[in-house]
Amino acid sequence: MAKHEPSKLNPRRRKVKILATVGPASRDPDMLRRLLLAGADAFRVNMSHGDHAGHAKTIDAIRALEKEFARPIAILCDLQGPKLRVGTFKEGERIVIPHGRHFTLDRNPEPGDATRVCLPHPELFGVLEKGQRLLIDDGKIRLKVVKASDDEILTTAEVGGVISDRKGVNVPDAVVPVPALTDKDRSDLAFAIEHGADWIALSFVQRPEDIAEARKLMGGYGALCAKIEKPAAVTRLDEILELSDAVMVARGDLGVELNPEDVPSLQKQIVNTARSIGKPVIVATQMLESMIENPTPTRAEVSDVANAVYDGADAVMLSAETAAGQWPEEAVTMMDRIAQKIEGDSSYAKRIRFHETRPDSTTADALSHACMTIAETVKISAVVVFTGSGSTARRVSRERPAVPVLVLTPSVLTARRLGLLWGAHAVATRDIGSFEGMIAKGKRMALRHGFGEAGSKLIMLAGVPFGTPGSTNLLHVVSLAGDELKKHSPD
Ligand code: PGA
Ligand code: MN
Repeated sequence: MAKHEPSKLNPRRRKVKILATVGPASRDPDMLRRLLLAGADAFRVNMSHGDHAGHAKTIDAIRALEKEFARPIAILCDLQGPKLRVGTFKEGERIVIPHGRHFTLDRNPEPGDATRVCLPHPELFGVLEKGQRLLIDDGKIRLKVVKASDDEILTTAEVGGVISDRKGVNVPDAVVPVPALTDKDRSDLAFAIEHGADWIALSFVQRPEDIAEARKLMGGYGALCAKIEKPAAVTRLDEILELSDAVMVARGDLGVELNPEDVPSLQKQIVNTARSIGKPVIVATQMLESMIENPTPTRAEVSDVANAVYDGADAVMLSAETAAGQWPEEAVTMMDRIAQKIEGDSSYAKRIRFHETRPDSTTADALSHACMTIAETVKISAVVVFTGSGSTARRVSRERPAVPVLVLTPSVLTARRLGLLWGAHAVATRDIGSFEGMIAKGKRMALRHGFGEAGSKLIMLAGVPFGTPGSTNLLHVVSLAGDELKKHSPD
C-alpha cells in the first residue's frame, strides 16, 4: 500500500494523547487503521483477555500501520497482576447471597453454593482480620469478615447479591502478601518483551518492591507503567512513581477498593504528583463508558474527559469502549473532539498551570523552563528537541508549553515510547553530528511535519556533545527561511 503523506496524520495539534484498548471490536487491521486516523496515539493490549497468538497478530497489525503512516505508535501491554477471584459454583444454580446472611470462603475446591465458596488464594487466609471487607464483582457484593482462621473466612453479607463463577474479589483493607507478578504475568511479560512492547503496565501494584521486581524481569527492555488501583499504592505513591516510568489512574478498581467519591481528588493528586516529576500519567476507565452501546456519550462523560484534559494528564484511555464496544471509532473521534475543544479554550492555558511545576536545579530544567517562557514572549511555532533517551522531551513536556514539541531522536524505541507523553510529536531520524547539521535538520523536519512555515521561529534544544546522555545545554532560536525543504537530504 502507498505510504500516506505525513500530513495525513501530522501534525496532530492535540497535546493530550489517546490510548485505545484493543479487543474483539478493534483488533481487525482495518479497524485499527480507523482508530489511528480518528486520533489514537497508542494502543493497549490487555493481557487479562485473549491469547498470545491473538495478541501477536494485533501487535503485527499495529507495526504495519506504523510503517504505512511513517509514524511511531506506542504499544502498551497491560499485565493482569494478582487479580483475586472466587472459585466456581454448582452448575445451573443461580446463587444469591441474601443481605445480612453469613457466607464462608474456604479452601475446599468443591463447587460453592449460597453459604460458601472456595477462595483459591491461600495467601488471603492468614492476613484477613475481623472487620475487614471483601468486595465481590466490582464491589456489587460486600462481605465483612466475622472470623478468619487458616482455612476458613466467615463473613456477613453487608450487601448481598447474585454471585457466579470466578467473580473478582477486592480486599481493600489488607496488604495481600501475593507476588507482584503471577506465573501468567511472567509468561505474558516475556511475550510482551519478545514482541517489542514499548510499555508494560503492572496491575494491582501494592509496594515499590513490586515495581522493582517487574523491572528486574524486564531486563532493560521497555518502559514500566504502574497502575494505581490499590489504597496501599496510594499511600506509597511517591516511592512507586520514583521507580516507574509512568503511572495510570486506574479508576475502575480504585473506585472499588476505595469509594467512588474518593477517586476525583485522588485523580488530581496522582496527576499532579506525576506531572511534578515529569513522568507520563494516564487517566483510565469509564471515560466514555456509555459509548460501549451508544454512538454518543453522556454529558457527564464528556465533562469527565474534559476535566482530565484540564488537569493536564498526559493521556486519556478508552477501555471497553474500543475493545468490546459497538462504536470504537466514534469513541476515539469523540475523545479527540473533546480534547481539541478543551485545548482550544481560552482558559485552558491557565487551568493547566493551576498545578505549578518548579524546575529542578539542573541545566536541562532551566532550559526547558526557558523554552516555555520564550514561547510566551516571542511567537514560536514549535520547540524542536534532540534527544536519545527522551529525557529532555519529558522535561520540556513537563513545563506544558503552549507550542508543540517536535522530538527528533535516532532511537525508534524512544520515539514510540513518547506516544504517551503530553504534547510530544516524535520522529525517528538519523543522528546528527554537528551544530550546523542540527539546525538544518531541525528546520527541515519542522517544515516537513507541519510545525512551521517560512518566517516561523523555532526553539531548538539539544545537548552538546551530541549523543551524550544528560548533556542538555543548548538552546537556540532560529527563523525558517522556507527554502530548507528544497535542500534534499536523505533522512
Ligand atoms: P483494568 O485497569 O481495565 O485492567 O482493570 C484499569 C482500571 O482498573 O481502572
Ligand atoms: Mn484494574
